[in-house]
Amino acid sequence: MSNQSLPTLDAAKLFDNAVISIQLGIEDFSLATSPSDAGGNPHRALSSVRNLFAGMLLLFKYKIAASVNNPVDAYTIIFNPPSIVPESDDNGGVRWVPDGKFKKTTIDVQGIEQRFKGFGINVDWDAIKQLQDCRNHLEHLHPKHTYGEVGGFVADLFPVLSDFITNELQQVPMDVLGGAWEKMLAHKDFYNEKLAECEDSWQSADIPDGMQTYLDDCNCQMCGSQLIKAADEDLALELTVKQHKDKFKYRCVSCGYADLIAPELYHAFHVANDYDPRDGSEPIYETCYECNHDTFLIFEQECAWCGATLEHNTCSICGQPLTQDEQDNGGLCSADQYTREKFMRED
Ligand SMILES: [Zn+2]
Ligand SMILES: [Zn+2]
Ligand SMILES: [Zn+2]
Repeated sequence: MSNQSLPTLDAAKLFDNAVISIQLGIEDFSLATSPSDAGGNPHRALSSVRNLFAGMLLLFKYKIAASVNNPVDAYTIIFNPPSIVPESDDNGGVRWVPDGKFKKTTIDVQGIEQRFKGFGINVDWDAIKQLQDCRNHLEHLHPKHTYGEVGGFVADLFPVLSDFITNELQQVPMDVLGGAWEKMLAHKDFYNEKLAECEDSWQSADIPDGMQTYLDDCNCQMCGSQLIKAADEDLALELTVKQHKDKFKYRCVSCGYADLIAPELYHAFHVANDYDPRDGSEPIYETCYECNHDTFLIFEQECAWCGATLEHNTCSICGQPLTQDEQDNGGLCSADQYTREKFMRED
């Protein structure tokens, strides 16, 4: 069989498609974030994120395809091999045949990660997985609740594309993406500036120390934006989150919506410390005996909301970590406390 009959792949075409997809994504982004009287349309947020994410993956695939000299090799490393499944040979044996549909699919994120490892291509996979999570998350939301989140997506995509085009493609992002790049750059600067203002605003709001870390995961309930500030009016009244959790509000910089911050902090806490009893996982947190919030971290032996700690941390006989429930045993775990009581009864 000659090479002529094997499918080939033109890497340059992948590159062109990548650029077009990213440019379309930025066009959608501009529309999604413009006011409606200026032709804006929040429904474009999802197509923006889809186009941008697809464009980034195409750029990655281009790099993989361009890493080999032969267009046949380029084809085989970008497309998934057909899966081979067993079939009866009608004679009591099996024969292996390619799976029915013959529809060729290209490698996904996981496939790209494998190829990148094999070819020594470096990217920030943590950042890419986060972008992928955000993209998947937006697929399941009502468009109304997504246009704030797309701003964070574009800001986070910026360093990934910038590093990849500069370091791995050895090109200048501005040359590759033109006006779309300028828009991304301006947005990233604007976004990071607003993010810093938001972070500053919480300084005097007195969020409990153990809950601070969850503020980064809080979003506006209306539009999904992470650009949420401590409400000016609450700061002016010198309210604090610690003391006035039923009053203190955030205000969204993207859409202006305001609501209580405490439920967002709890939600972020519970997402971060999630456990599933159905798969046999042990609880990670429980209700705090001091403050009554469901924020007592069992393994840390400390409440994230009020900072309560335990009087006795480990069992004085077996050394096991103790729980809130076991504090009345005077430093013994339940098992050793039981043995001691039994021994005393028999005495
Ligand atoms: Zn909002
Ligand atoms: Zn507590
Ligand atoms: Zn013990």
